[in-house]
Amino acid sequence: MADRFFPNEMPDFISETSQSDSAGASESDSLTKLLLLPHKTLSQLLMKSALDLKDTVVKETWVAKRKRVSDYTLYTGALGTAFLLFKAYQVTKDNTHLLLCSQIINNCDYASRGSGRVTFICGQAGVYALGAVVAKHNGDEQLCHQYVTQFKEIKLSKDLPDELLYGRAGFLWACSFLNKNLGEDTVSSNRMRNVVDEIIKSGRQLGKGRCPLMYEWHGKKYWGAAHGLAGIMHVLMDMDLNPDEVAHVKGTLNYMIKNRFPSGNYPSSEGSETDRLVHWCHGATGVALTLVKAAKVFGSEEFLQAAIDAAEVVWNRGLLKRVGICHGISGNAYVFLSLYQLTGKLEFLYRAKAFTCFLHDRAQTLISEGIMHGGDRPYSMFEGIGGMAYLFLDMIEPYQARFPGFQL
Ligand SMILES: [Zn+2]
Repeated sequence: MADRFFPNEMPDFISETSQSDSAGASESDSLTKLLLLPHKTLSQLLMKSALDLKDTVVKETWVAKRKRVSDYTLYTGALGTAFLLFKAYQVTKDNTHLLLCSQIINNCDYASRGSGRVTFICGQAGVYALGAVVAKHNGDEQLCHQYVTQFKEIKLSKDLPDELLYGRAGFLWACSFLNKNLGEDTVSSNRMRNVVDEIIKSGRQLGKGRCPLMYEWHGKKYWGAAHGLAGIMHVLMDMDLNPDEVAHVKGTLNYMIKNRFPSGNYPSSEGSETDRLVHWCHGATGVALTLVKAAKVFGSEEFLQAAIDAAEVVWNRGLLKRVGICHGISGNAYVFLSLYQLTGKLEFLYRAKAFTCFLHDRAQTLISEGIMHGGDRPYSMFEGIGGMAYLFLDMIEPYQARFPGFQL
């Protein structure tokens, strides 16, 4: 088990005062020095590093491919590069990032024609939703309207799964993203309600018995954010639910908490006894983010405590030997950011900073030495350094940080 992650030898907490007091840091190693830096100085380092990484991502996923898009998705493809450029624009206000972002989305649009995928992270909904929002920022109302029209023409087949990466929840997330950025009712509440009805219906069919809602993807009842309960419950909490549906969402989360592993980690699927994965896709990370949301939406202390318990697992076993946001250190850092946003407690901000500093200090070297895995798609948003660059930019304004494609 231990070879999946590095033992976390960083201090559990370093207070603000010692962070701004750099005396005593002179004899420390480079990681400890980073941990002792005040926010402003660290932000400058992260900004430079993030923009350098962004340049590498653009070079490898766009320039070197002569602007041809074979994988258009946010997950491993060109839309991930566009999403990173949009973030770089939001942080720097430099329009060149926005213009390049727009070109890449345009080519993603062509590449995605006929793909039939309907979600934000792995489908056409992501291309059209991000395209519309970026066009709006560019002041191109006509293009914005065109992308919204394409979005509205997306058809959901009857046999669509319910999960986030390929299913109904992933389409609904794109609807919420559009409504948040372009105004409520860009996608009508009727359209969204129909999809919620389908999700609730299929969840109740499989959920008979101990857990009110349950879902299957490729024959397995997953619990994690990518393919299972954590992702679907996360999206449902942004919807207008009736009291019965709210009770079922809460009941499902309570069932998960009750049936977590003794270690505090969560099974990747129903009945699994292998306490191994601490990722956003499978395990404590994705569940923790969903529990933080539940604590916020329902004002519940129990969900908050369960989220804090899960975050402790992420702190101890979450320094993974990968960098990305799906199953790497970058994604795990977002657990602490979301707890910081909800509670205002500096210990959580410190832990996000610690994971970020670990990456900044060591990831490139550990990858080049073959100790860390660079990811199957090493420049992508979800598996590669694209996600790491995104986290670095998010750490500059930690209250504004959002897990890409998952937190609104
Ligand atoms: Zn993953």
